[in-house]
Amino acid sequence: MTRDKPLSAAKLPFAKLEDARRYPGYVVMLGCTICTYAKGYMVEKIILRLGETGAGGFQTPVADVAKMVKRVCPNCKGRDWITQFAYPAQLLERDLKRMKVRDGR
Ligand SMILES: [Zn+2]
Repeated sequence: MTRDKPLSAAKLPFAKLEDARRYPGYVVMLGCTICTYAKGYMVEKIILRLGETGAGGFQTPVADVAKMVKRVCPNCKGRDWITQFAYPAQLLERDLKRMKVRDGR
């Protein structure tokens, strides 16, 4: 069984939200550049939300999502976000398999 190679680290900031569909398990990591607070969000939810507000969608580069975040950091009250794809460290191999089954892979 072969698996898609993860996007290289160099390409990650330029990846579009739709790219995540090829890499089950990726989340959009919202990070505060001031205090390093970080939280992961499901890619599907972000795409849905962007679609609802008309701000973007599948083609939106993941790095551009940060510009659309209006809230302040719950930790330092700053507002200097970065967004990128990340593989949650806690994600287990069996979760990946389950997601592949769900997505019909
Ligand atoms: Zn912060």
